[in-house]
Amino acid sequence: MRRSLVAGNWKMNGSIAGTRELVEAVKVGLGEDNAAEVVICPPYVYLGEVGSLLAKSPLVLGAQDLSQQAGGAFTGEVSASMLVDMECGYVIVGHSERRAIYGESDALVAEKFITASQAGLTPILCVGELLEERENGDTESVVARQLDAVLGSEVGMDALRSAVIAYEPVWAIGTGKTATPEQAQDVHAFIRRRIAEWDAAVAENMRILYGGSVKSGNAAELFSMQDIDGGLIGGASLVADEFLTICKAAL
Ligand code: PEP
Repeated sequence: MRRSLVAGNWKMNGSIAGTRELVEAVKVGLGEDNAAEVVICPPYVYLGEVGSLLAKSPLVLGAQDLSQQAGGAFTGEVSASMLVDMECGYVIVGHSERRAIYGESDALVAEKFITASQAGLTPILCVGELLEERENGDTESVVARQLDAVLGSEVGMDALRSAVIAYEPVWAIGTGKTATPEQAQDVHAFIRRRIAEWDAAVAENMRILYGGSVKSGNAAELFSMQDIDGGLIGGASLVADEFLTICKAAL
């Protein structure tokens, strides 16, 4: 049995006051025994604050990115060991905004993925195609290429054993256009089959999240699909009531 997971990616949004308010509202609204595991990924500078607010709650802290470097002269970067220090359990890697805006290649994403896993963090590996790639019928080959960057080495395969994958069609992120449950299910099933070619047990246990304009109104239908094990939520994770409804839709 795979336990559902809902992760809120706050991106570069919020303030210290807004952060406190949002975390408190989610904590109170969720209570102690939500069926799904819930992760909050605030901006780096609020990790300490959110971590303190989440202490003794079932919610888990996550980060939005990390450096592939262990430490040293890398201005502006944050290492895996620093995230462990801040008691993060999860870290997002390869988000499409990192790939598109900051030029992160499949190889760099794989490096970050392995670095996170080896430090004891659970990486959430984002994969997904552009609209043009979908229209050209290249969705599966793009997702396969992104996965294979990790599966291409022994260490990558090892890291994948305890990871989470998020399928996020780029055309659905922040656009209000959601993949239909069937479109999402098809790609999730493809991802699971691809991993099963290497290790059937890992594939069966792998949590594969859907991300891309998930809202209170479409979450339950998406999460009811066989291979969708929860969601990676952007915009809707910034509104307590929306996020709570999404978390409760993941059973
Ligand atoms: C995301 O950024 O990972 C995301 C899914 O964003 P949104 O929910 O806003 O589409």
